Order: sequence, then C-alpha cells, then structure tokens
Amino acid sequence: MADRIFGHIPGVPVGTLFASRQALREAGVHSQNMAGISGSQPEGADAIVISGGYEDDEDWGTEVIYTGQGGRDQETGKQVEDQTLTRGNLGLVITRNKGLPLRVIRKVDDEYRYDGLYRVADAWHETGKSGMRVWRYRLTALEPFGVPREDGAHLQTPLDDAEGRSSPSRKTTTVSRVIRDTRKSRELKERYQHTCQVCSIRLVGVGGPYAEAAHVRPLGKPHDGPDTFDNLVCLCPNHHALFDMGGFRIADDLSLIGIDGILHVHPTHILNRAYLKYHRDHYSPEE
Ligand SMILES: [Zn+2]
Repeated sequence: MADRIFGHIPGVPVGTLFASRQALREAGVHSQNMAGISGSQPEGADAIVISGGYEDDEDWGTEVIYTGQGGRDQETGKQVEDQTLTRGNLGLVITRNKGLPLRVIRKVDDEYRYDGLYRVADAWHETGKSGMRVWRYRLTALEPFGVPREDGAHLQTPLDDAEGRSSPSRKTTTVSRVIRDTRKSRELKERYQHTCQVCSIRLVGVGGPYAEAAHVRPLGKPHDGPDTFDNLVCLCPNHHALFDMGGFRIADDLSLIGIDGILHVHPTHILNRAYLKYHRDHYSPEE
C-alpha cells in the first residue's frame, strides 16, 4: 500500500469534483469506500467525507463539528451503541496530536467535492441526540475559504445558505484565535504572576514571563464556554495542552484526576464547578 499522504494530493486542486466514493479512492483523496474517516492508528486520519449522514454533525463551512464513526444500525442509520475511541475516531485524535492537516470532502448533491485542508482543533465525547456516546471533533479550515480553483472559478462556500448566513463562522474563527489574549486572560495571568496552577513553574523568556490562560469549558461552538474568571485557569504550555487533551481533569475539591496533585487556586479566584464538570464529562477517558 502506498504511503498515506497528509495534505493536498498533487494534481487535485481544491474544488475538484468526484462522481463517486470509488473515484475519490482511486485519486488517493480518501482511502475508504464506505467509512467517513480515512486512515486510523498509528499514522492518523488523513481525510474525511462530510455526507450529512450523522444527525450530530454541524457544518459552518470554515468550522465543522464532525461526529466520529461506529455504533450505528446498518439499516436505519440510527445511533444504537456508544462510539469508542478506536479506528478512525482514534485516527482523528492522533491527527490532532501530531498537528497534521486533514483533507475535507463534502458530499454535494450526488458528487463529492474536495474542500481543502482543515486542522483538528478539538476532540471530545458527549451524549449525542440518540442518548449514546459519540466522539466529536472541531475542524477549522487551514486556508481561507473560497480559494480560487485552478480553472479560475471560485469555490462555492457551503456557508452561503438561503439566508446568506455566511459570516458567523468566519467571525467565530477569528474570535477564537484572538480571544487567547483577552483582558480577562491577561488579568488572570497577572494575578498568578504567570505561574502554572498545576506545577507552580513560572517560565521567563527575554521578553518577560509566559503563561497561558486555559478555558475549562472551551470557547466557541458547540461548547460555548464563557470568557470569565470562573472558567479560566492559568497554566504552563505543557499543562494547557494536557488539559485540552483530557490528560487530566479537575475534581470539585480541586484535586487532579489523571495526574497527581491539586490545582493551586488564589483565594479570590472561584472556579465554577459546573464548568469543571463539563470538562470532566467531555474529556475523560472512556469508561
Ligand atoms: Zn504546569
């Protein structure tokens, strides 16, 4: 089998249409005939097809909430069992952890359109509309939408729905990047003197100290956590990454789950227990 390619497939510009899943596979754009996720462990997933088959998917164009695979009844398509962190679901988490690009293909009418590269920005599990556990992923476009095609035409954005609601997702993308350095974040980091609340390490570079403000319940869709002190913790980059990946969680008594220790909290900093629970519920390892 040929090596899996992460990124664009040479000779396949964004906007290329394919008549069938088989055509996608033969072009090397997506290696599966049936499954939505191409690739798995240990390399990671390299492509997905958004076909609208999952009731939990949400597509805003530059930002997508994608549902993992498995647990569906073959005939009815209904979610009848919990999804597990295996196969393509694990593949997407590996893609995130390795920072690899993901090719996104959308089913448009009866065709499949290559829509370019996305980043797996977040991965978590939750109880889907069916009552079963589903794995979910937030994907963000790596390139501006509406990339010109080689033939000079402009890629149609699926954002432009009947009511012309094309801007919100773009706004969301911008906000979630900028928001890392909100006034709230800066104030929190100053309150902790840029010291990690988990390991008490304070990093100092030539330009001064460095810490990161982590949102306990993540910002942006679909989590919609607030940018408030009771939803923020001050962490070093290692513990921020580990927290976002579910490598540790915070109990209501502020002891840490998954690693040893306790969260050091300033007396004036009250964390909202509901947000701690939200993080535990969505980022804990499967039972
Ligand atoms: Zn730390």
